[in-house]
This record gives sequence, C-alpha cells and structure tokens, in this order.
Amino acid sequence: MDEKRKNMLKNLPKIDEVIGLLEKQGIYEKVSREIVLEVCRSVVQKLRDDILIAPDKKLPAVTSDATGVARNVSNQIDNLYDYRLKRLVNATGVILHTNLGRAPLCPEALDRILEVGQGYSNLEFNLERGERGLRYDHVSRLICVLTGAEDALIVNNNAAAVLLVLNTLAERREAIVSRGELIEIGGEFRIPDVMTKSNSILREVGTTNRTRISDYEKAISPDTGVILKVHTSNYRIVGFTEEAELTRLVALGKQHGIPVFDDLGSGCLIDLANYGLQHEPTVREVLATDVDVVTFSGDKLLGGPQAGIIVGKKDILQKVKNNPLNRALRIDKFTLAALEATLMHYLVPEKAATSLRALKALTEPQGEVRKRARKLINKLKKASIPNLEYAMREDVAAAGGGSLPTQAILSAVVAVKSPIIPASRIEAKLRQAQVPIIVRVNENEILIDLRTVTEDEFGFIVNALRQIAVN
Ligand SMILES: *Cc1c(COP(=O)(O)O)cnc(C)c1O
Repeated sequence: MDEKRKNMLKNLPKIDEVIGLLEKQGIYEKVSREIVLEVCRSVVQKLRDDILIAPDKKLPAVTSDATGVARNVSNQIDNLYDYRLKRLVNATGVILHTNLGRAPLCPEALDRILEVGQGYSNLEFNLERGERGLRYDHVSRLICVLTGAEDALIVNNNAAAVLLVLNTLAERREAIVSRGELIEIGGEFRIPDVMTKSNSILREVGTTNRTRISDYEKAISPDTGVILKVHTSNYRIVGFTEEAELTRLVALGKQHGIPVFDDLGSGCLIDLANYGLQHEPTVREVLATDVDVVTFSGDKLLGGPQAGIIVGKKDILQKVKNNPLNRALRIDKFTLAALEATLMHYLVPEKAATSLRALKALTEPQGEVRKRARKLINKLKKASIPNLEYAMREDVAAAGGGSLPTQAILSAVVAVKSPIIPASRIEAKLRQAQVPIIVRVNENEILIDLRTVTEDEFGFIVNALRQIAVN
C-alpha cells in the first residue's frame, strides 16, 4: 500500500468522535444507539474500502473529517424514514403491470382494509356458532354465487393455487399437460418448475402447436393423478394449431376417473366481448364444462388484490383445504377484506366494468381516453412550463399481466418533448419525482398514455414536469 493511502486510512475519523457529534445533534431522538453505531460503522467501513480499492485517479483528495462523516450518517438515518414502496402514476398504458402492482384497489376495498385492520376481526371465528371458523369462508359464498362453483378457496396468489392443487391431486403421480401449454409467466413462474416443486411428475403430450385429445388418452395410466390444462396467458400460437377442448378433456377425465384441472390465469368474471374486446372464457363458462377444479388470479382481469382463487367440486376442494401446504400459502386478512369488497362489484357485472379501475381502463371507449388526453394538454399548457411541447397522438395500450396478449387496445397519448432536454432525461426525472410518473420513451419524446391515467392524477404529472423545467 502506498504512503498516501496509509495516511488516509490513519486519518479516518474515530467512530466515537462521529457519534459524539451526532449526539450533540440529538440523533437519539430519531433512532436508537445501536442503529447509530451500525450506520456509523458501515459508513466508515465504506470509506476504508474505497481508499483501499479506488484506482489512483479516483482516490479522494483528502480524508473525510468527522463532520463530513457525521453528516453522511445523519442523511442515511433520515433516509430510513423514507417510504420506499410508494404510489406512482402508471402512464405506460399497460393496465395490469405486474411491476407496478397490477390492479389498483377500489375505494370500498380500501375502506374494508381500514375497517378490518384497525381492530380485531372474525377472521377465523364463526360468529353464529361461537367457534373456530375458516378464513376463506367469508368470501367463498360470494365466489360461488358469481361463478356457479360448488366451493371455493383463496390462497396467496395464483402461482400458489397451482402449486397447491397439483400437490394435492398429483403428488408423486403424473400430471398430463400439452407441450403447447408449458408456459413461462413473468420470469419466475414456469409451469414445468412449479410442477416439479409440487412433487408431481410432468407428463408432456403432443407438440408445441398441436395436441389432440388422443394424445392425452394415450398418456393415461394408473400413475395419472390429474389432467392439466393451462391458459397460455401471455402468448398465442397462430397458424397450424390444434388444442383439445376443455369439454373433451372433461369427458376423458370422467371416463377414466381422473380429475381435470384448468389453470385459467386471468380468470375473467365478465364477458369482455360485450366491450368490443376478444372473448375470454369467463370462470362461469369454464365451470359449466363440469371441469373439476379451476384456478385464477385476484389481481389480473378480476381487478382486485393479489390472491389465488381455487374453485370447483366440493370433494376436490375439501382435499385441497386439508393439504398441510394450504397453511403455508394462506391468504391474509387485508387481502380477504379487499377481495370481498371487490367481488361485490360483480353482483351487477356492468357496474364492475366501470367501477373497478383496471376493468374500466380496459373497457373504456377510446373517445373518452382521447378527451382525457386533450384535458391534460390544456392543463399542461395553462401551467406554462418553459421548454416543453405537447402533442396528442393515437397509440395502442395493452392489458398486461399475461392477459389478452394479442388484443390491441386503442388509446391516446400525450407526447412531451423539449428542444433542450433529452427524452431519456425527462423520463428519468419523472421516474424520480415525489410521486413518480412512469412513461414510455419514443425517440426524442416521452409518451403519457391516458388509458392508465385518471384525471385525479393530472396534478402529479404537472408538478413533476414543472420540476424538470426548474432543475
Ligand atoms: C398469471 C398466471 C399465473 C400466476 O398467477 P399469479 O397471480 O401471478 O401468481 C399462473 N398461471 C397462469 C396461466 C397465469 O396466467
């Protein structure tokens, strides 16, 4: 080690000295002694490491003094009080954006979370009988009424639902599935991997683009535990294709006494064709095939909180409920409260399409979106932010969340550009605003897609753009 580095290390302030300064500033009002010590140590350690590994050119000119280190520690302690998980404005036009929290909750769901969360609740207590109850019983009746299911169970998310059902029906046994349905959803959910973890044996049949009912039939053996059908959510095979219809799989299952399980993924409760979108089989339609068990997400096309909903035959659901794995995947009370309120919207299905934000974003006529884009431009023009130009343009939004991958959802965007600030910089600044605005970048402009933005959020956008002009 050279002399310079040695000297710098020697001159690093003592931890006690730094803590002494912080004490005088009343640091213990903010955090405990242990935390101050912990942050101090890590800051000094970092300085030491920097001195040891920095290339000569990057070596700081002078060693940080105690005051400088104390300021650094104090800032880091203040940062501990910043909320890292925060609300933001999704201006991407991707309605069910998994990275941005999928479906926003309806006001009733938020009220219920507050109501149920602020005190005790009958989460697992049967008020009629005065004895222990089951947490998912609170919403299963509503789900059964809305889907025609015999019974329902809710778990943490749909991936958990698939894992639980496969483990219940096909542990150490075979699950027959088409090669065309061995899908991956959002990176960490791959059907073959989930099957392995469920301890069931994957029995692939058919080819990527064609799987016939006879392929399933030939694969049936005494080792078969379940016939699995997976909604290919986020992709479509087009052209020369064939897939076995669910009704035929159900008939095949019945013939051999093997349960048939359909992982629907999105799980729509209303017919989207009524809104000019592609028809997605509704949960009720799927159950009408007499399939044994169906799973779907709470926060995809349903527009509620993250949850995995399992519906189907009573005897199968009973087995699933009795599986000890169920305990590990159970849903929490806030989600249940929010789900219950969300489901109630579907008692009048047309209302759900306008009152649940994700569904509204999906079904709203393009004319309304265009109107909102014009309003935003007016508001931005009134704000007279220097060096920004606005233009309205037609564009295409997406359902996201592995739903309706081939559906073009016509939308309207506000394109913002500046003759002096590059679009990438505008994007980064918006992303780091107090209430972050997440946008698309298109060459030298950023795009604000109004399909996923409400009028209530205009203020955040105007403020964030104003800040850009200031800095
Ligand atoms: C999205 C999806 C899942 C996973 O659901 P999560 O709610 O993300 O856990 C599983 N299967 C299919 C077919 C899906 O589309």
